[in-house]
Amino acid sequence: MKRFIFLGPPGAGKGTQADFLSKKLSIEHISTGELLRQEIAAKTTSGEKARLFVESGDLVPDEIVIEILKDHISKIRGAGYILDGFPRNTAQAQSLEEHEIGVDKVILFDIDKETVIKRLSGRLYCPACKKFYHEEYRPPKEDTLCDNCHRALIRRKDDDPESIENRIRVYLEQTHPLIKYYEEQGKLEHIDANKEVDVINQELLERIGR
Ligand code: ADP
Ligand code: AMP
Repeated sequence: MKRFIFLGPPGAGKGTQADFLSKKLSIEHISTGELLRQEIAAKTTSGEKARLFVESGDLVPDEIVIEILKDHISKIRGAGYILDGFPRNTAQAQSLEEHEIGVDKVILFDIDKETVIKRLSGRLYCPACKKFYHEEYRPPKEDTLCDNCHRALIRRKDDDPESIENRIRVYLEQTHPLIKYYEEQGKLEHIDANKEVDVINQELLERIGR
């Protein structure tokens, strides 16, 4: 089994790299942010409860996210997974242990704050394929249309300046303590996330892909 957590601030490139590595290793990419966006779009009870938290950049209450994750992970029958955006606080990390959801390595995406802000403020999203682009760093081939399905790309509601500031603050206050938590378990590996996408792809493959 290959079971990873991708840890780091919003906009560090976790989703972009998880998308790449999950395909290379034929493992599952599990983004709790994406699972929540699906619930919100489908207007489920959990989605309705989560919507305002997601839009403002606050953490969705643990019990809602944990339930969604547990439900999703129970259906997986593969060679492993990447948890992207979970856990985001110590209680969530402990819930993985309680539910025997194993973790072999935690990859910490080290990145500067100003790079994160540039990445999030230029991020574009395909609401159909769930693929991310960047207007400057990863532009779609045709203007602002998705390369796969040609739908119009949109900006996420939580990529506005106010939510970005809030998400960075929430990360520092609630998620950052997980660095020490996983360091103490001997599972933490750092990656320099300021580099270009392809360079990080290769580093990840060399470090954990084999
Ligand atoms: P996260 O999942 O950590 O929030 P994303 O993978 O969505 O981050 O990346 C944030 C934005 O930055 C996206 O628009 C993405 O296309 C872009 N991006 C991701 N990795 C890089 C990189 N190494 N260099 C430049 N832009 C990047
Ligand atoms: P992301 O797609 O990882 O940027 O997540 C988008 C938003 O979904 C976050 O700002 C939170 O509001 C919510 N979210 C995602 N994962 C979690 C989590 N593990 N715990 C609480 N809220 C989460």
